Amino acid sequence: MTTYNTSSDSANTMIRAFLTKIGEEYLGHSFNTGSGKGKEIWTRIKEKTFNKKCAFCGSSSENLTIEHLIMFNRDQCGLNHPGNIVPCCKSCNKRLRHSDTKKYYDWLEQLEAVCKTIEDLKIRKKKILKHIKDEKYPDLTDDEVNALRAVAMSLYERTSSELEKSINLFKDIDKTLVRRR
Ligand SMILES: [Zn+2]
Repeated sequence: MTTYNTSSDSANTMIRAFLTKIGEEYLGHSFNTGSGKGKEIWTRIKEKTFNKKCAFCGSSSENLTIEHLIMFNRDQCGLNHPGNIVPCCKSCNKRLRHSDTKKYYDWLEQLEAVCKTIEDLKIRKKKILKHIKDEKYPDLTDDEVNALRAVAMSLYERTSSELEKSINLFKDIDKTLVRRR
């Protein structure tokens, strides 16, 4: 548990809450991978669909964590939804970035970078695409993704500025805080 929180941390938390709620709207029920039905779904995906192996490199590991194929952030706007989560080992969990634009790779680019042979790439890509389809990840149009991104960006900016406003409000109320410095 971190005790240092910047306004961007709280804004990113809001973005994840937003992408979770939208994911649940499409899914038709709540989806918390930490408990209850959500945890059962995650365990099934990890153990049955992917046989306790990393979806990217195929290695068996005890420490497989949840990775969102379409990243769960304001840039890629992946939803927290069964069709968007796969088990992932520690090293594949670090998404690479394009050197020119600094943008994160999408999941297919990451898979291409991780797979050592074309055959591995083919098998794992097919498995991931089948998983997305079987779990019925919503087939969003470009317009829908752009709308999600626009709302997420606005939420990010509003959340960050709310924190600044609170700091300034407190400073206004308690002038001594400013005087003591
Ligand atoms: Zn891996």
